[in-house]
Amino acid sequence: MLSTHLEQYFNFKSFRPGQEEIVQAIVNGQDVIALMPTGGGKSLCYQLPALASQKMTIVISPLIALMKDQVDSLKARGLNAVLINSSLDLQEIKSYLKEIADGKTHIVYLAPEGLNNKLLQDLLKKIKIDIIAIDEAHCVSQWGHDFRPQYRLIKNFIDSLPTRPTVTAFTATATPEVREDIIKNLGLVKPQVFVRGFDRPNLKFFVRKNLKKKAREHEVLRLIKSMQGSGIVYALSRKETEKIANFLNAENIKAVAYHAGLLPDERKKVQEKFMENRFKVIVATVAFGMGVDKADIRFVIHSGMPSSMEGYYQEAGRAGRDGEKAYCILLHSGADVGLRHFFIRKSREEMQKQGKNIAEIEKITNAQYDKLEAITNYVENNKCRRDTILSYFSDPDVSRIRQNGGCNNCDVCLNFEWEEIKTKDNKKSPTVFQSLSNTVLESVQMYQEGKTLEQIAKIRSLGVSTILQHLIRWYVEDDGELNIENFVTAEEEKQILKAMSEAEDYTKLSPIKTKLPDNISYEQIRLVMAKIQKIKLW
Ligand code: ADP
Ligand code: MG
Repeated sequence: MLSTHLEQYFNFKSFRPGQEEIVQAIVNGQDVIALMPTGGGKSLCYQLPALASQKMTIVISPLIALMKDQVDSLKARGLNAVLINSSLDLQEIKSYLKEIADGKTHIVYLAPEGLNNKLLQDLLKKIKIDIIAIDEAHCVSQWGHDFRPQYRLIKNFIDSLPTRPTVTAFTATATPEVREDIIKNLGLVKPQVFVRGFDRPNLKFFVRKNLKKKAREHEVLRLIKSMQGSGIVYALSRKETEKIANFLNAENIKAVAYHAGLLPDERKKVQEKFMENRFKVIVATVAFGMGVDKADIRFVIHSGMPSSMEGYYQEAGRAGRDGEKAYCILLHSGADVGLRHFFIRKSREEMQKQGKNIAEIEKITNAQYDKLEAITNYVENNKCRRDTILSYFSDPDVSRIRQNGGCNNCDVCLNFEWEEIKTKDNKKSPTVFQSLSNTVLESVQMYQEGKTLEQIAKIRSLGVSTILQHLIRWYVEDDGELNIENFVTAEEEKQILKAMSEAEDYTKLSPIKTKLPDNISYEQIRLVMAKIQKIKLW
């Protein structure tokens, strides 16, 4: 029955995973919380019950532009919907209310700031609301990535209605804290929880670990050259997007940088040109991939680690919306985790400056570390990538993948061997060493010959820590290829970064040392500090 309506109203042949069950539950009057990925088809889940069972539905979504798109797209299908926001005049509001009262429309989009408008509230009480659908429901949680204080007004609004409607919430964010907050802050009553549609069978997932900076740039180039069609490269800073775009253009690949520094007009132009395939690649910072809605994106390459699985999956998920084969490739470098810790520390300092409550800061910071850990595990674990993704989002489809012994569509399942990377300027010319003194260079030379710190120290009659200082100078000032991992394990690095983030002055060694177990040496702390020093943000 529902599939007849699907065909009748939307002209779609079949439901996407989860849609039918969700629509059925809503039609039955059940409160619902639905977690589906971006592009999974959440809008239909609240539009179809309104259309099929003529239930008056109020949809609340954070951005007026997004709601306008949805109203336009419904209208283009010959379906009626209205959008009410507080900028309408009374005459317009009245005419919409009349349309509703006459049964001409069953879908009303409402901007959350409208909930602050007393007049609007009173007028809305005159109509019988059957269903409230809250889109992007994570906005009600401050543990989500997009907290909107106005979303907190929704519950009061629901409570003020003469009869309680069915309340339904939709989001792509799946962490337990956010889910609990949604249930609590929206006052959902015994909601049925649906987690569906996270599997995107046409996407191929690949991870390449521990690339050096230069090597990563060349790997981006090599991958792009080997792939058909157009795609997105995500980088961690504005400066990086420009650097990569320039590098690609110099190699005859049409690329353009896309970031917060562009004026809205420029941004629009870049998007339009990309849609028309006038560029092969858009190199974007994560925050500004939002407006890019192109169905035939064949690859999404991350040149740098995202801050969470949610973020990663949302960005990677922009590939292959048309259902055709597409690649999602994460190129990781050892410095990424350090950079992410640095970002978290910066945001904590920011919160402290704003005078936020300490317990709250701690909770938010810990949530950020947990998210970082999840994405780090995705990179580090040698486990089917799809399995890792689906289990992170608790999507039941994971059991199907496991029954098949993996997805057979990711680097791990395919036993994929990465090609060795050849950078043009692989060999360092001796001139690059000029800025460093001979004393330093002698240590570096011995290190490159494969001698250990202790051996070098002995030969040169110097202390081990002095040798290490030489190597650190080479590493920081000369982009020397010092394998920090040989001296500091990932676990130790984590401990050190944590101690740094807690220390009052993270540029001084001893306050950090006191926060660490004795087995972690000053040299190791110095190495991690050097690693961070090398990360240039802008
Ligand atoms: P979300 O809000 O979950 O990110 P949308 O509701 O915007 O996703 O849907 C993404 C796209 O998928 C839209 O273009 C929509 O028309 C399409 N879509 C949704 N459900 C189906 C379906 N059952 N069959 C085909 N296309 C669908
Ligand atoms: Mg949506």
